[in-house]
Amino acid sequence: MRRLYEAPAYDPSWPRSHWRASHPAPLDLPPLDGETKADIAVIGSGFAGLNAALEAAASGANVIVLEAVQPGWGASGRNGGFCGYGGTKLSDKAIVSRVGLEGARDFRDFQCAAIAHVGQLIDANGWNARQGPDGEAVLAQSPRVWAGFAAEAQDLHDLYGERVDLIPPQALRERGMAGPGFHGALMLDQGFPVDPMAYVEGLARLAIAKGVRICGNTHVTGMTQADRGWRLTTAAGAVLARKILVATNGYSSDNLPNWIGGRNLPAFSAVLVTRPLTEAERQDQGYTDPHMAFDARKLLHYFRHLPDGRFLFGMRGGTSGTAEAHERMKIAVRAHFEALFPAWAAAETEHSWSGFVCLTGSLAPFVGEVPGASGLYAAFGWHGSGVAAASYSGQQVGRLMTGRTAHLPALVRVVPRRFPLPAFRRLWLRLAYAGYGLTDGALPRPER
Ligand SMILES: Cc1cc2nc3c(=O)[nH]c(=O)nc-3n(C[C@H](O)[C@H](O)[C@H](O)COP(=O)(O)OP(=O)(O)OC[C@H]3O[C@@H](n4cnc5c(N)ncnc54)[C@H](O)[C@@H]3O)c2cc1C
Repeated sequence: MRRLYEAPAYDPSWPRSHWRASHPAPLDLPPLDGETKADIAVIGSGFAGLNAALEAAASGANVIVLEAVQPGWGASGRNGGFCGYGGTKLSDKAIVSRVGLEGARDFRDFQCAAIAHVGQLIDANGWNARQGPDGEAVLAQSPRVWAGFAAEAQDLHDLYGERVDLIPPQALRERGMAGPGFHGALMLDQGFPVDPMAYVEGLARLAIAKGVRICGNTHVTGMTQADRGWRLTTAAGAVLARKILVATNGYSSDNLPNWIGGRNLPAFSAVLVTRPLTEAERQDQGYTDPHMAFDARKLLHYFRHLPDGRFLFGMRGGTSGTAEAHERMKIAVRAHFEALFPAWAAAETEHSWSGFVCLTGSLAPFVGEVPGASGLYAAFGWHGSGVAAASYSGQQVGRLMTGRTAHLPALVRVVPRRFPLPAFRRLWLRLAYAGYGLTDGALPRPER
């Protein structure tokens, strides 16, 4: 395995997350043992892999999923649960210049369809995974950023025909969005918060019920082209499949397949969840709004109230996978939380954890067949917002792999560029973070 970070970042034990604590019985699926055949083999059982497996099985294909740990162990079982727009780090203008106005609109439709897809899955299967109202607030971190929101709202209208609600700084307290670091807000009306563990484990159970075989504790270590298909090898077995899907996202290995190496850049996202806040504490801060929210920084903070009164707060950052770096990251997350929500400085952290998101050399995802490698498909690169995007892309690549039409906009069909000097990807990330740190602006200072 050729992976970019230190071994502790890939520790196969479960992270001590709020989601694992509130769903204390992980699936325990047995590993692959011996040789087997399948029409389709999927590597990775997160949102992308499981949605692909479900969709392929629905068309009658014999599908096997190979998972290094257990379903949801990757980012899908440890994220913030923001099911919203996402998948790319490109601005709307950059998307238009890459794929044209129609391409940008098609990508926006894809994002909306992705949110709807997750909602339909949850509702149709009765999973207890919805956690709050529709809509998402983007908070301005400075008066300068707030001043740009009117133009952004106009762009959203001109490009996509969407109307958004602008909340001026003086109305934030009344709307329950007050904080020393917030200077106005833009309300998007799409998206909703989910319990990601309920969703991903629901997907895994549904896939099994529909005939998909999921092998846990099954790390794929080799991939070779074989007679009319592909052969995947693991410690205790092998699968011969006509088609395979690599759905390993931030947990990918650079040599599985070699094509993916250097095109992806795993990056940390880290989350804390507090103890339940009292009503008096919420009022004291003035932040009571139940919607998902994030600020407009490049290195964004994302946060929301959980249904049980706890508060979830997350952010990007950290470029080392050592245990010491993980501890430093926890401290940094806590410091940012207290700077933005000072009235909750006494609300202890109950759980703090991190995991990998995945960037690509083109700042957009890739979903489709790998050029020059018939039968090898990949779906990755959700840029930290994959709850909806990975789910729908998984479903669509499942359709593609079983010979059906798929909704895959031009933006996600472009093969991502390799990062220049891929061995130095973590250095690029460090430099980018340093640059964003300067342009994003400082955190509010505590009052004395
Ligand atoms: C802390 C954190 C917070 C986040 N918050 C949000 C959020 O609020 N909203 C949002 O939209 N997105 C969020 N994300 C991103 C989102 O979770 C991911 O984009 C999404 O879950 C990716 O799904 P996936 O199926 O592509 O990959 P993953 O869920 O990462 O699954 C990949 C799987 O592949 C397996 N694997 C890897 N290599 C092998 C191998 N060789 N053999 C077998 N199995 C292998 C891994 O074990 C893993 O289970 C967050 C991510 C993190 C880490």
